Amino acid sequence: MLNNDCDLAVIGAGITGLSAAIGAHFRNPTLKIKVFGFPFDSNTAKKGELRNFPGWDEIIGLDLIQGVVNHTDKFHMESMIDLTHETAKEGNQELNKEIKIIEKVDSQVTAISKTNEGFDISTDDSNVKARAIILASGRPDLKYSIKGEKELEHKGVSHCAVCDGALFRGKKVCIVGDGNIAARGALFLHKYCRKITILCPNSQFDCDSKHKFKLLKSGKVKVILNVKNIEISGAQIVESVKFQVENEEQTISVNGVFVELKDKPDLTLFKNMNIETNDQNFIKVDQKNSTNLEGVFAAGTVRGEMEYAPVVMGDGYKAGVNAANFLT
Ligand SMILES: Cc1cc2nc3c(=O)[nH]c(=O)nc-3n(C[C@H](O)[C@H](O)[C@H](O)COP(=O)(O)OP(=O)(O)OC[C@H]3O[C@@H](n4cnc5c(N)ncnc54)[C@H](O)[C@@H]3O)c2cc1C
Repeated sequence: MLNNDCDLAVIGAGITGLSAAIGAHFRNPTLKIKVFGFPFDSNTAKKGELRNFPGWDEIIGLDLIQGVVNHTDKFHMESMIDLTHETAKEGNQELNKEIKIIEKVDSQVTAISKTNEGFDISTDDSNVKARAIILASGRPDLKYSIKGEKELEHKGVSHCAVCDGALFRGKKVCIVGDGNIAARGALFLHKYCRKITILCPNSQFDCDSKHKFKLLKSGKVKVILNVKNIEISGAQIVESVKFQVENEEQTISVNGVFVELKDKPDLTLFKNMNIETNDQNFIKVDQKNSTNLEGVFAAGTVRGEMEYAPVVMGDGYKAGVNAANFLT
């Protein structure tokens, strides 16, 4: 194996990918693992505090990801010391030299292809060979699916309530979205905004009961269901939103629109590898997080797992252990 190559490449350095690296490393500390991506650009880092994380009622996402990043560094060093001790005791200097670590590569993966020996992974400035890969690239935000969204971006249209909410102090705003993501956005905006309308494209607003209760209690949040054909308008900045509910047109005047919609996973990176997806375009895996292609594993929201940090961390960890078993 060349210096730059690795046994296992993890694509995506969010909470799922980092947990996968920890799981694989714990299972077999002699594997050379590379994790590609930017931990501080993941959802966990960007979206404020996480609620109901076992052990903490509330934890700042940035603190959680920082903790996991620190863990990957400290953890491999401890394991190396243990293993060095064992191998030194056995006088096995060769194995001692072979001990590898988890390396974080701050680069976006631009292409992956299958080779006879494994996989070629390209970034803008490097090419790496790996014997197995774990896809943990999450789901991107859905952008520009609404009329007026692009034209009025940064002029009242935002894609992150937590990042930009404070700019709308005392204003009337709406959130386009569903579930915990929209509910969390509304509960955050509730601290700043005068009135919040959630425009939900579905027939039910599917969020946790705890969020629902807080939204009801706030008295400032209204949810409108079955919203279709949304159009954001304004001459220089956002002034109003027009939409249809069961063929009836409505317009509300607002100063801000937060689009908090999630897209399907972006699978263009893997399209030449014929990885099977399910009918909702999520990567299909078996109970060991293995895809139809030998040596390719997937975990977290990219394979349709629930948008809860503890769930995707467990899924990533499991994929890591299974990938290490495959490689060992
Ligand atoms: C608004 C919001 C609020 C949430 N609140 C909570 C909460 O209160 N409690 C809770 O438990 N959970 C919460 N979650 C869910 C939790 O944060 C997600 O489950 C988690 O972020 C998913 O993690 P992930 O690692 O699978 O994906 P992501 O966080 O999306 O990470 C994937 C990473 O892969 C990177 N990537 C993609 N393509 C490439 C590539 N080609 N090369 C390199 N890197 C790539 C992305 O840039 C990203 O950094 C929330 C999520 C959101 C969006």
